[in-house]
Amino acid sequence: MKLRLRPGRRGPIIRVRALSGFAALPDKGGVIQLQVGEAGASYEVAENATSSRKIIHCDCDCFYAAVEMRDNPALVGRPVAVGGRAETRGVIATCNYEARAFGVHSAMSTMRAQKLCPQLVLLPPDFERYRAASRHILDIYRDYTPLVEPLSLDEAYLDVTGVERCKGSATLMAQEIRARIHTEVGITASAGIAPNKFIAKVASDWNKPNGQFVVRPRDVDAFVKALAVKKLFGVGKVTAAKLARLGVDTCGDLRSWALADLAREFGSFGAALYRLCRGIDNRPVCPDRIRKSLSVETTYVKDLPDLLACHAALPALVDEFSRRFERARDTRPVHKAVVKIKFADFSQTTVECVATAPDAAVWSALLDEGHARRGLPVRLLGVGVRFAEAQRTVHDSGQIALFG
Ligand SMILES: [Mg+2]
Repeated sequence: MKLRLRPGRRGPIIRVRALSGFAALPDKGGVIQLQVGEAGASYEVAENATSSRKIIHCDCDCFYAAVEMRDNPALVGRPVAVGGRAETRGVIATCNYEARAFGVHSAMSTMRAQKLCPQLVLLPPDFERYRAASRHILDIYRDYTPLVEPLSLDEAYLDVTGVERCKGSATLMAQEIRARIHTEVGITASAGIAPNKFIAKVASDWNKPNGQFVVRPRDVDAFVKALAVKKLFGVGKVTAAKLARLGVDTCGDLRSWALADLAREFGSFGAALYRLCRGIDNRPVCPDRIRKSLSVETTYVKDLPDLLACHAALPALVDEFSRRFERARDTRPVHKAVVKIKFADFSQTTVECVATAPDAAVWSALLDEGHARRGLPVRLLGVGVRFAEAQRTVHDSGQIALFG
């Protein structure tokens, strides 16, 4: 889309990128204002990188402690912390809200925590169980979008822009995801929904625990303006104290500072402050794990007696697969088709062949081949695909791969 502006005209236009002859300056409200230069120069309205995105930041509530309470209901209602023992100079990793009421918090020394709360139940961390819960939670996230960026075992950004589930509403998706974490994993999570990562992360803290908070694009400006600068990521105790000395408490206060002044006071972080206090954060959600395969399977209440019954059951699996495949929006090419069969005697076999797309006829042929291996009644059938390995290029790896 191109705009032509008359000379001498000034007006706020959201996120406009000058192609020639103009300078675009952010005004106080985070809106890009044009400083008009010559007549007739053209502008391109850039992809609305911030306001059109839908980012969810999901964060489980006192995750390690929540897993412990889930697995030992006797702990519920008591102050619980997970961490190292005081004798080994341990620190608190996580504590529940009952412990927080005593002033206990994460990163505090266990010795201090036990002074504040003598009845504190201190448990050693059990990462096996935390990781298992984490995997389950990530699977729930990835059921909504492949664009999941985990920050830790219990925290992740999801980019659900363009996802059609829940009528395309990120608010409803967050509700559904949190409900699923509660019923499937047995713990609670909070969520922030916003047009970018920075605001989504701040918002997930707003109604914690077991709540969510939405910052709509039109509310970003007011939300960030009232935000304490210490909530900005990168603003630690030292920077917050310095800002306080300079009379800056909120992002609104910070907006009166010119970019050059911020750069002088805070070095390279100054530019980040300039953007953040205006609610600008264009960082993409970067998934760290690439899905290698996608499959669906069903364990039948009654075993499928023969091959004919298996073929009759296939279309329902193919339909379910198609729905999941559509949702996964994976851009990598399909490399193989796979059929999994578990027979009545619990023996299991998988059959696969090279395929470039999900194809009911290919799965049907694989089913014939797999079924013939045992010829028994079938208790479980699955269909799926494997994706092609990402090609490592010189550009990606920074060096030439000698062995393909
Ligand atoms: Mg958490």
